Amino acid sequence: MYRSHSCGELRESHIGTTVTLSGWVSKTRDKGFVVWVDIRDRYGITQLVLDEDRTSKELLEQARNLGREFVIQIKGEVIERASKNANIPTGNIEVLVSELTILNESKTPPFTIENETDGGEDLRMKYRYLDIRRKPVQNNLIFRSKVTMEVRKFLSGEGFIEVETPYLIKSTPEGARDFVVPSRMNEGQFYALPQSPQTFKQLLMVGGLDKYFQIVKCFRDEDLRADRQPEFTQIDCEMAFVEQEDILNVFENLTKYLLKEVNGVEIDSFPRMTYDEAMSKYGNDKPDIRFGMEFGELNTVTQHKEFGVFNSAELVVCIAVPGAASYTRKELDALVNWVKRPQVGANGMVYVKCNEDGSFKSTVDKFYDQDDLAKWAAVTGAKPGDLICVLSGDANKTRTQLSALRMEMATRLGLRKPNEFAPLWVVDFPLLELDEETGHYHAMHHPFTSPKPGQLELLDTDPGAVRANAYDLVLNGNEIGGGSIRIHDKETQATMFKHLGFTPEEAKAQFGFLMDAFQYGAPPHGGLAFGLDRLVAILGGQETIRDFIAFPKNNSGRDVMIDAPATIDDEQLKELNLKLDIQE
Ligand code: ASP
Repeated sequence: MYRSHSCGELRESHIGTTVTLSGWVSKTRDKGFVVWVDIRDRYGITQLVLDEDRTSKELLEQARNLGREFVIQIKGEVIERASKNANIPTGNIEVLVSELTILNESKTPPFTIENETDGGEDLRMKYRYLDIRRKPVQNNLIFRSKVTMEVRKFLSGEGFIEVETPYLIKSTPEGARDFVVPSRMNEGQFYALPQSPQTFKQLLMVGGLDKYFQIVKCFRDEDLRADRQPEFTQIDCEMAFVEQEDILNVFENLTKYLLKEVNGVEIDSFPRMTYDEAMSKYGNDKPDIRFGMEFGELNTVTQHKEFGVFNSAELVVCIAVPGAASYTRKELDALVNWVKRPQVGANGMVYVKCNEDGSFKSTVDKFYDQDDLAKWAAVTGAKPGDLICVLSGDANKTRTQLSALRMEMATRLGLRKPNEFAPLWVVDFPLLELDEETGHYHAMHHPFTSPKPGQLELLDTDPGAVRANAYDLVLNGNEIGGGSIRIHDKETQATMFKHLGFTPEEAKAQFGFLMDAFQYGAPPHGGLAFGLDRLVAILGGQETIRDFIAFPKNNSGRDVMIDAPATIDDEQLKELNLKLDIQE
C-alpha cells in the first residue's frame, strides 16, 4: 500500500493516528536539529517533521538529503503543529516521520513548481509534465474535466447519443486548410483530418439517430492567430426534426446549466440579436455586452459642414467612453496613435470632450459648433464627463476599428469582469461572405447551411443579401459556438455548391456521398458545435485556451515537449510513396 491518505486529507481529527503518505518533495527546510519537508500530491501539501529528539540520526540525514521533486513514501504519526498555517487545509497538523522510502529521485527541475513559478512559457511547455504538477495548471485541467462531465450529464439527460466519428476522412470545408495524412495502402492518396464531424453528424441524422453529440477533436491548419490551436475540442451536436428555435432552446439550457453547476450563476434567458444589429451597434458579430458603449452613427448630423473627411465617408460612427473627458492632451494623443496602429488601421480619430459644465470641446471645433456637438452627444447618449471618439471611412472597416477601440477602452476601464457572464445569441447571419481578395463568395458558416425560407432565388441576384438559418452563441465577447439548420435536399445542396464555385463534377467528387444520402429520406435537421476549450477558459474566468489544454501547441503549431512536427526517415517516406521537394 503506497498511501493511507492523500497529502491534502489530514486534519486535527487524525491526530494520534499512524499514516502512510506518498508524493513529491515540494520543499525542505533544515534548521539543524529539526528538518521539515513539504510533501505534495494532487490533493494538497502536508508538512512532515523530523527532529533530533524523536527521529533516528540516519532518518534525519536521509531527509536532509532529499532533493526537490523526489518521490517519497513516508510512514509516521499525525501530530498537532506548533505553529499553525491557516492558509492550507492541512495547516493544523504535521506528520512525525518514522519511516522514509525514496521511490524515485529527481533531477533539479528547470523551474520552481510553485503556484507562482519562475519558469517562462517556453520552458514550462518543454517540461509540461512538470508544469502540470503546479496547482494552477492542475486546477484548470480538473475544471475542464468537471465541465465535460456536466456537458455529458446534461446532454445524455436530454436523450443525446454520444457517437464517435472517424478522424481519417475526406475534406470537410469549414474555412481552413486541411491537415492531410498519406495512405500507405492507397498509393498517392491522402486522408484529411476533420475540421469538424459536420458531414458525418448529418449522415447520423439520415441514419435516424435523432440526437447526436460528441466531445471531439477537430483539426484546422490555419495561421495561429493569438490563442488558436491547430487541434481543438468541440462539443458537437446534431438533431433531427428541429427548427432553429428548438436548437437554441436546448443549447441555451445547456449553457445555463453549466453556468449554474460550474459557476453558481443563474441567468434567465439569453438576449437575441441579429447579425446586422450586432454589426451596427458593436461593429462585431461577437459583441461583449457586459458594458454599454454602443455605437452612435453620426452621418446625418455631421455631413452638412465643410469637414471633408466626414463628408466623403461612407460611415461616421462613434462611442462615448465614460469618464474619459478628463484625459490629458498627452493621453488623448496616445489614444489617437493607438487607433492609427496597423493592427487597428484607422486614419485618425476625432474626439469630443463632454465637459462637466455641459459644454463641448472637440478637435473639429472649426467645423462644428456647440449645437452640432450637442446633437452628437444626444445620438451617442454621452453624458458630461464622457469622451466621444469618432471614426469614419468605409463602413465595414470603420466598424471593425471602432469595435477594437471599444474593447480596448472597456479593458482599460475594467469593464470586462471575468466573473460576470453575458451570453447572447447572434442570429440571421449572411449565408455568403465576399472574399475581398478573390472576389468570390464563400459560405460564411459552411456549405451545408440552409438559406432562410424563400431566399434561395436571391442567390442569383444579390448573393450577399441572402440570410442563413445560422446562429452563434456569444459569451463575454467570444464566440462560444455556432451552428445552423442544414440543407436536407439534394437540389438545394447542389445549388449551394454551384454558387460556391463548384462544378457539378467537383461537387460530386467531394460530396457525392452526402448528396446521395439526401436521396434516401433525409429528415430536416440542424445542429451546432461549441468550442470546448474556449468555453472552459471563459467559465474559468480566463481567456487563454492554452491554459486549459494539457499539452498545447505553441504559436508555430509546435509541441516543443515532444518536438513535433518532425521529419520522418527515408524508409517511411518510401513506404508512403512520398518524395520531398522543399522549396527554399
Ligand atoms: N461544424 C460546425 C463548426 O465547426 C458547427 C455546426 O454547424 O454544427 O463550426
